[in-house]
Amino acid sequence: MRKDGTPRAVSDRHYYSMFEYAGVGVANVSFAGELVDVNARFCEMLGYTRSVIPRAFPMHALGVGHPDSVVTCHKLGYQMFDSALPTRDARSGRLYAFTNDPAGVNFRPRGNWWEYIYVEDKKHIKANRPISAFCDCHTCQRYSLGYLHHLHKISDTLYYRLATIHNLRFMMRLVETLAREP
Ligand SMILES: [Zn+2]
Repeated sequence: MRKDGTPRAVSDRHYYSMFEYAGVGVANVSFAGELVDVNARFCEMLGYTRSVIPRAFPMHALGVGHPDSVVTCHKLGYQMFDSALPTRDARSGRLYAFTNDPAGVNFRPRGNWWEYIYVEDKKHIKANRPISAFCDCHTCQRYSLGYLHHLHKISDTLYYRLATIHNLRFMMRLVETLAREP
């Protein structure tokens, strides 16, 4: 979570604190009825389910899509994840970025190995760098954060495509790297 003071970032931090540290399992469901994300206590409940299913059977954590929740559930024994959150975040301007090369990261929930990039932030207007220096996706290899800021500002549909490619690649690399952990 970023430490800046933009209204979007402050609102995100307040929401995330309430959601993540709630004493009960909470699932975030979209207006369309899709399971978008679950909190830490919900992940603990998933851990109980995993504990009663033999390890020979891979398990699917439906609705788990927040990077921290994916790490938590992976450590509980889940291998597959399915959530609308990364693409939803991409479209709304909230991008995920590794802060270090993921190959060398010791993943843990709420660590500083990743951060949000809010593409609408004015400080990105002239940013001549990719969303993340550690991302190998099509978007980061060809487009600057400043150009994405421009596309987002004028609601160009190319922004939605490029942002979605990036957030999905982030999630793929996260899961690939977690799968290689001993
Ligand atoms: Zn990227």
